[in-house]
Amino acid sequence: TKEDVKSCLFRNAFVLLTVTAVIVGTILGFTLRPYKMSYREVKYFAFPGELLMRMLQMLVLPLIISSLVTGMAALDSKASGKMGMRAVVYYMTTTIIAVIIGIIVVVIIHPGKGTKENMHREGKIVQVTAADAFLDLIRNMFPPNLVEACFKQFKTNYEKRSFKVPIEPNDTLVGAVISNVSEAMETLTRIKEELVPVPGSVNGVNALGLVVFSMCFGFVIGNMKEQGQALKEFFDCLNEAIMRLVAVIMWYAPLGILFLIAGKIVEMEDMGVIGGQLAMYTVTVIIGLLIHAVVVLPLLYFLVTRKNPWVFIGGLLQALITALGTSSSSATLPITFKCLEENIGVDKRVTRFVLPVGATINMDGTALYEALAAIFIAQVNNFELNFGQIITISITATAASIGAAGIPQAGLVTMVIVLTSVGLPTDDITLIIAVDWFLDRLRTTTNVLGDSLGAGIVEHLSRHELKNRDVEMGNSVIEE
Ligand code: ASP
Repeated sequence: TKEDVKSCLFRNAFVLLTVTAVIVGTILGFTLRPYKMSYREVKYFAFPGELLMRMLQMLVLPLIISSLVTGMAALDSKASGKMGMRAVVYYMTTTIIAVIIGIIVVVIIHPGKGTKENMHREGKIVQVTAADAFLDLIRNMFPPNLVEACFKQFKTNYEKRSFKVPIEPNDTLVGAVISNVSEAMETLTRIKEELVPVPGSVNGVNALGLVVFSMCFGFVIGNMKEQGQALKEFFDCLNEAIMRLVAVIMWYAPLGILFLIAGKIVEMEDMGVIGGQLAMYTVTVIIGLLIHAVVVLPLLYFLVTRKNPWVFIGGLLQALITALGTSSSSATLPITFKCLEENIGVDKRVTRFVLPVGATINMDGTALYEALAAIFIAQVNNFELNFGQIITISITATAASIGAAGIPQAGLVTMVIVLTSVGLPTDDITLIIAVDWFLDRLRTTTNVLGDSLGAGIVEHLSRHELKNRDVEMGNSVIEE
C-alpha cells in the first residue's frame, strides 16, 4: 500500500543518512586532524555528538523500567519463565562461543611476541579484585533506595578505590596519559565521564538494580489481572511516549554520529605509537569479532528460525551504526528497540522483556575481547598458560562481560578480574589502551547484534506461548 511504500522510503532514507554520517564524519575527522586541536577545542567540536549521547542516555532509564514492567506484565508467569530461560540459555551459549572464538584466534595468530619492547604505555590501572567486582554485581541487584538508584551508583569499595587516585605528574589513573598536573585534572574528569567501573551500572546509574526491580514489579502486575490494569496501562503509555521521543531523536542521530566519529578521529593518538604487536593484536580482535558477528550469530539465527539473518541485520543497521558511533550498548538501546519493533517487527512482548536485560548482561563482543586480550598479555609476558588457566580465563571473561556496564570502555576495566584470576600483571592493561577506543566500538556493535538476534531467536522459540496468550486475551492472532 501507499503507507508501506512511504515507510519503506523513510526507513531507507534513515539508513542512507546514517551511513553518510559515518563516511562524512571519517573524512571530516581526518581532514581536521593535522590542525592538532586542544582537548577543549575537540570537546567543542564534538559537542553535537555529545548531545546525542546525552539524549539517548536520558531515555535509557525510563525505557528500561517501562519496557520491562510492561513486558513482564503482558505475559503470564509460565510464559515469562520459559522466555526468561530461553534468553538466559541463549546469552550463556553465545557468550561462551564468543570466548572460545577469542581464545582460538589469539592462540593461532599469536600476536604477542614475548616482549614489551616498543610497546606503548599509558598510565596505570587501578587494582580491583575479582571478589570486589562480583560482590558489587550482587549488591547492585538490590538497590536499597530506588529513587537513588535512578541517579546514583551504589557506593562500593570498588568505586571509591577507582576514583581515589592521586593526581600527580606521571601517576596512576585508569587509562590516562599524564605529563603535567593540569592535564591530569582534565584526564580525571574525562575518566569520571567515560569509565564508570561499577558492575551493573549504566551511565553512572545502577541499571541492574532497576532491571531486577522492574521485572519483579511487572511480574506482580501481570498476576494481578483486572486489579493491575491501571498500572499496566500507565506503564504501557509511558513506554509508548518514550518510543515517540526516540523517533524524534532518530532524526538527530545521523548528525550526532557524524560528530562523534569525527571528534574521536581528531583526538585519537598518532598511529605511530602502535607498534607491530599492537597492530597484530588489533587485527586478531577484528578477526575474532567478525567470525562471531558475521558467521556464528547469523548462522545460529538461521539454524533456529530458518529465516534469513541478513534481512534481520539489514533492519538493524541503524542500531549497529549507533553502537559504532557511541561505543555504548545501553545508549544504543532506544534505537535497538525502534529497529527491532518497527523495521523487523519482533513482538513487543519479547523485545521489552529481552532487550533491556540483554543490554545489561549479554555482551558477546566484550567476552571475546576480554579472553583474547588476557591471552595476548600473557603472550607479551612470555607467560605459559596451562589448560586450567585457559579455562579460568574463559570463566572469568564470561563473568567480566556480564559485569561490564554498557558504557564506553567498561570492558577494559572489568578485565582486571580476568588478569588477576590467572596472576597476570594488571598494569599491562595499559599496553592495549591505545587501541581500545577503536576495538570498543567494534565489540559494542557485536554486543548489540547479539542482543538483537537473541530477541529474534527467543521470539521464534516462544511463538506458541505468545499465540496462546493472544487467544487467552482475545487479541487478534496473526497466522504465520
Ligand atoms: N562499550 C561496551 C558496550 O557498551 C562495553 C565494553 O566496554 O566492552 O557494550
